[in-house]
This record gives sequence, structure tokens and C-alpha cells, in this order.
Amino acid sequence: MQRIAADERRCPAPKAAPPRRGCPQGNHGGSIRCDHALMIDPFDGWQVPPVGITGSPLDRADHLRRDPGAMVALRARPDARWLVMDNLKPVLTQGERPDILWAYRSDVPHDATMVFLGLDPAKDGAPRFAAAASGADLVSDFGGVIVDARAAAVQLGDGRAEIVAQARSLLDWHARHQFCAACGGKTQMNKAGYARTCQGCGVEHFPRTDPVVIMLAVKGDHALVGRQPGFPRRFYSALAGFVEPGESLEEAVARELFEEAGIPVARVRYLASQPWPFPSSLMIAAFAEATSFEINLDTDELEEARWVTKDEVRAALAGTGDWLAPPPMAIAHTLLKAWVD
Ligand SMILES: [Zn+2]
Repeated sequence: MQRIAADERRCPAPKAAPPRRGCPQGNHGGSIRCDHALMIDPFDGWQVPPVGITGSPLDRADHLRRDPGAMVALRARPDARWLVMDNLKPVLTQGERPDILWAYRSDVPHDATMVFLGLDPAKDGAPRFAAAASGADLVSDFGGVIVDARAAAVQLGDGRAEIVAQARSLLDWHARHQFCAACGGKTQMNKAGYARTCQGCGVEHFPRTDPVVIMLAVKGDHALVGRQPGFPRRFYSALAGFVEPGESLEEAVARELFEEAGIPVARVRYLASQPWPFPSSLMIAAFAEATSFEINLDTDELEEARWVTKDEVRAALAGTGDWLAPPPMAIAHTLLKAWVD
């Protein structure tokens, strides 16, 4: 006769699985410490949000940068074009839908600082360069217009703002790094604009990118937005700050939120990133799980901070609220939109 366990006699419902000990993935016995608890499907339900100043159509073609002969040949191609940056401001076409005014080689002074941007796959790999030069002739001869780079980032679509960002950051770096930080010697551009080599000590210098965390602290149905003293009237955004040496992104998010607004943070989750070429930042957007609503403001950094609801954020993004949200070009807009969507 089959023996019936005492607990099965008492309860006919299926038994719940006993709590697992040790590895939650069931890969080991109960006594081994492992990291399998952290295993997740990294793309489960993940949608890449649209981010401003990204999506350049150019192939940056790194392999060509190290070949001076290839660069000479690319510059000589009849379909090669130059983005002229006049005092770091791009020359654009005029009209309702402005575009980059791509100049011919003959429109650019031979001694101008030039950098290789990449190849345009949509135009049979036509080479694209940027040059630091006056745009006066392009304005007078071709009806171009010299536009502030931030304004250009708003006006340009289809990844062309990223091309301007690439050109602006690189040319600005060359202008600021004429001399070696190690020995003070003169430096010379190489790798088609992606390095400078010291003529004195031989050290190679590379274009810098400065990471900035920009984070939306959230707690339940509320998120934290703030105003810096220089912001336009009624304008609020996510809080932000530079990542410090020897610090992770998560630590930078938590530190900045606590320093600027006194908000303690539990978890941090990355959302997306964006080049911000003013002059060379990389904006890294994240959500931060706040554990308190109590704001303790650092008035040197922020003029005001406030908790807002999803409905208030939706209204601000639609332009119908009592405060102004960042424009779609800014990754703070992406953060706010991702939170309410
Ligand atoms: Zn040096």
C-alpha cells in the first residue's frame, strides 16, 4: 500500500515549491556563493528612447585615420565636402529646413585646421571633413548662415546635429591643446584629427570626453526637477553634475542628488546617453530611486527644486503646464518623457 505523507493528507492542493537555497538559478548546491542572482535578460522589454544630437549617418572609418596616404586621397576626391566651423559655429543653409552647407575643397583655406568626420554611406562613401575657418565667403557666395552650435542642434534633424557636435568638439579640442600637458612642448595633429603628438617628448594626446550624469530622482508618482540660477524663467530640468575621478556613474548620481538637493538614493538605473559638445561632455541619463521627499537645497548649485507629478510633467512636455520642460533636443526631455510614458 502506498504510503501518504502526513502533510498531503492535510492539504490536497499542490505544495508550493520550497524556497531555494544558494544559487537562485539552480546551478550549484546550497553552499556556494555566486553571482547568478544578478543574471537578467538585459533586453527584456527594453526600448531605446529617441535622444537628441545622436544618429549620425556617417561611418567614422577609424581604420582610415591612421593612413596619411588614404587621407590625402580622400581629400582629393571630387565628392569630398567640408563642414566649415566659423569660431566653432557651423555654416548652414537657410530656409525652413536648414541643413549643413557642405563646402568644396576650394572654399576652405589650405592652412585651416581640418579633421576627418567620416564617410557618407548614402552618397557612395563620400568623404566628409570639418574645418575651422571663416564662413564669410560661404555666406556671401552661397547664401549660407553662421549659426550658434546650440541653435543648430535644435534646428538640424536626421543625425546632422551629431555631425556638428563631432566637428565642434574635435576642433575645440585642437584649439585648446596646442601644447603638451606633460612637458609644455608644441603638439601636432595626427590620426586625421583624433590625436595630437608632442614634438618634445613624443607623448600622444587624445580628444577628451567629460562624463556628466543627469538624473531624474523619482519616488512613487513624483519626480524631482530643479532650476539653476541662470535658467530661463519658469524652466526646470533634471539635476546634473560632472562625474568625479575614481567614482562610478551610480555613485556620481547619488552624490550629486544628495549634494544639490539633500535627496538620499537607493537604486540607480541607466537610461541613455548623449554627446553634448559644449565643449566635450557626454550626458549619461539615469533614474534614481529617492528614499525621501525632504529637500535640502544647495543654493550655490540650485535656485529651487520641486517634486512634480506625472500629470504635471505631461503638461510641461506639452507646453501647457505652469513650468517649462527641456526641449526634445535635450536628454533631460528624454528622461522626463520615458518616466511618464
Ligand atoms: Zn611633451
